[in-house]
Amino acid sequence: MLRDGEATAPIQFETPNGAVQTVGGQGPLGTRLRFPQVSADLRHRYCSGYLKIDVMAALIRAQPRFLQQRTLIVTGERADESHARAAYATFEPHRTDTRGSPRRLRHVDHWRPVHHLHERDVWAMMRRHGIVPGPAYRLGWSRLSCLACIFGGPDQWASLRAIAPAWFERIAGYEDRFGCTIQRHCGIRALADRGRPYPAAVTQPDLARRALCSSWAEPVRIASGNWQLPAGAFGHSRGPS
Ligand code: SF4
Repeated sequence: MLRDGEATAPIQFETPNGAVQTVGGQGPLGTRLRFPQVSADLRHRYCSGYLKIDVMAALIRAQPRFLQQRTLIVTGERADESHARAAYATFEPHRTDTRGSPRRLRHVDHWRPVHHLHERDVWAMMRRHGIVPGPAYRLGWSRLSCLACIFGGPDQWASLRAIAPAWFERIAGYEDRFGCTIQRHCGIRALADRGRPYPAAVTQPDLARRALCSSWAEPVRIASGNWQLPAGAFGHSRGPS
């Protein structure tokens, strides 16, 4: 986003032996200085590609260990989430697949096992297996990957401002600097003014603090009988189309 007469930044990933490998960073010079656009089109909503999709593809393409192998990529999009996601295939060759190649053969499939499920089915499955919902869901967010998603509505921005005011102001500062807000009709300060922080976010400051740390050492599985539906379940926070 801050690219200013520069190449797209390189991608770093961890390899099985713990080393960090770097690829890319030598592309043509260019300037963005704009937020990803609030759009279903991934060319304009470039955050999804640059933060997730392209990173996964780059690390597979860069490592010979995926050659002459069969690899399965598993992701969690659901048809219910949007029209765009409803059109996704449940099973298809991954974008890195080269199964027909005589020289660099890489068999990579992409499976979306929860594509047909409703939200209630996912929570029921997590309860059955005692999978602890991520802390963001327990704080009231109902749709993620990113805490400060560009699709955020008033309550989501108000919640970010409540638990991470410096983070919020940094993003608002980029709106000022770019002269262009994330959502065209108003900036995130005005959006947050119209919203109300999620009660679960403001009443659990310790969980909010731990959720904002860069590491997480708490159990991810518990006894199914102790499982609780998180505050963000069946909520209205918005996410990618
Ligand atoms: S969660 Fe939102 S901000 Fe994050 S990559 Fe997806 S669309 Fe972009």
